[in-house]
Formats: sequence, C-alpha cells, structure tokens
Amino acid sequence: MEQRIKGTTGLMMLIGSPVGHSGSPDMYNFSFRYHKQDYAYMAFDIKEDQVGAALDAMRLFKMRGANVTMPCKNEAARLVDELSPAARIIGAVNTIVNEDGKLVGHITDGTGFVQNLKEHGVEVKGKKMVVLGAGGAATAIQVQCALDGAASISVFNPDDPFLERAHQTAEKLKKEAPECKVQVFCLDDENRLREEIAQADILVNGTLAGMKPHEDTTLITDKSMFRPDLVVADVVYNPEETRLLREAKEAGCKTIGGRGMLLWQGAAAYKLYTGLDMPVEEYRKFQE
Ligand code: NAD
Repeated sequence: MEQRIKGTTGLMMLIGSPVGHSGSPDMYNFSFRYHKQDYAYMAFDIKEDQVGAALDAMRLFKMRGANVTMPCKNEAARLVDELSPAARIIGAVNTIVNEDGKLVGHITDGTGFVQNLKEHGVEVKGKKMVVLGAGGAATAIQVQCALDGAASISVFNPDDPFLERAHQTAEKLKKEAPECKVQVFCLDDENRLREEIAQADILVNGTLAGMKPHEDTTLITDKSMFRPDLVVADVVYNPEETRLLREAKEAGCKTIGGRGMLLWQGAAAYKLYTGLDMPVEEYRKFQE
C-alpha cells in the first residue's frame, strides 16, 4: 500500500459513524491497486452535524469520490450540489462524485440489489414484487425496481413510523414511475400478505428481521406462503443465510442473500468514480 502513495495520489473516503468495521477501504484499495488507479481510500468517523465540513474538505482536497453511510445519508443528500433521480426520490445518498467541483449525490443500494438479482439470473422488469420494509434499504429497492420497470410492488411494513414513509414513497413513485403499481399495506394484514405473495414473482425482506443477534426471527412464519417459482431475496447479509432464506430454500424457492447486494452497490459506486468495472471476482478470490 505505502508504495502506491505518491505526490499525485488522490484521496477518496467513507464518511459516517461508526465506520471502524467497514469493509469499504479494503475493497476499494484492492480495486485501485488492481486497476493501477492512483487513489487511496480511507474511512472517517463523521457525525451528521459534520457532513457539511466533510463535503467542504472533499472540495478542498479535490477528492474524486466519497461513500456515505449512516447516519449521514440524508444530510449529505441535502448538502450536495445535484442528485441522481433515485437519490432525489429517496432523499438519501451513499455515493458522492466530484465532477470538477460539483458534488453529485447518487444512491447505489437499489442498483446493487438489482445487479445482484441479475447475477442470479433474475430480472425485475415486468415482475410483481412484494417488499417487506420501508427503511433505507427497502426504500432504495422499491425506487430502483420501479424505475427499472417492475410491474408492481406491494410494500408491507409493521405499524411503526416507517409505514408513513412507505406511503410517501408510493406517492412519489406515482409521478416518477407511473407504470409501476405501488401499494402499501400493514404487515399485520396476514391475509393480504398471503394474497400478494401468491401473485408475486419476487419476495424481498428489506427489514432488520433475521439479522444478528436476532437470527431466529423471520417475517414469514407460515411456510405455506412459499412456492418453488417464487424468488426470495434478503437484504440482511449477517448471517449470510437468514432463517427466511433457509426456509424458502427448503420449500424449493430460488434464494438470494444480501452479501451480493453489498458488493454490487460498492461496484456501482466504483464505476461512477472510475468508469471501470470493479474486479468483483478477483476481490472475492482475494477475500477467500
Ligand atoms: P432502517 O432502520 O432504515 O429500516 C428498518 C426497517 O425494518 C423498517 O422497515 C422497520 O419497520 C423494520 N423493522 C424494524 N424492526 C423490525 C421488526 N422487529 N420486525 C419487522 N420489521 C422491523 O434499516 P436499513 O438501513 O434499511 O437496514 C435494514 C437491513 O438491511 C439491515 O439488516 C441492514 O444490514 C441491511 N442492509 C443491507 C444492505 C446490503 O447491501 N445488503 C444495504 C443496506 C442495509
């Protein structure tokens, strides 16, 4: 690494808090080294009220790019100079590209999800989807899938403050992606959930359910809702196979975990920074 750092080396960064556990520095530095890109990537612990100063530093140091994680995603969207269509609808960014001094915010969680499905042979265009959740990950998925031509998305969320956010997103999508029919339901409505899943091609868990240390939890407790031609995807990547995925797989469904989404959202950011395809396979091998 040290041999790569020269007087010309550009800095890129991750901002958020906490960031100490992040795999991003490893992944991006591996990729920069692989492609002989003259950049170095560091993670900085930045709280919400420090985002403005971090973006000023980005301009001052002429950083080409920055990734943004919690809790800074909404504040960063408010402070950048321009937003991609998905970032504008969601009001959050996870990637900022410095285009000659103009900071452009993108959100690549949704594109990462769609790309991960593609890698597993699943297209969202024309598909009927059920998405559980309306937080950051689930909203990014709803917006990107609607923009990418999903036929319908039925959103189910527990009766908590995220339910209102689901209604707001559905309203925005009526204007931004009118071809996609977006409906919102409370997760308590089990009959409706059963009906919607029976008609769906793809079921997605976009909630915290199943994530460590709550590996025993799943939002689909009635396994008769699974059928072999249903694709079941999860955003949770720790554990790699959630209870939802394990039980869906036992019922014959094709299952897709959240780790690929994480990798592909990073790859989408890398492409925005460098114009290059991240060496995903090489990085996977390097990690083994
Ligand atoms: P968030 O806090 O923004 O949203 C939480 C969502 O979970 C809401 O819809 C909320 O209603 C729901 N929820 C919370 N507690 C619940 C419970 N007990 N039962 C059912 N639903 C519940 O969180 P987020 O940032 O969207 O993260 C959600 C999950 O997605 C996490 O596991 C996170 O690690 C994962 N994630 C994965 C990726 C990826 O690339 N694979 C990216 C972002 C987030």
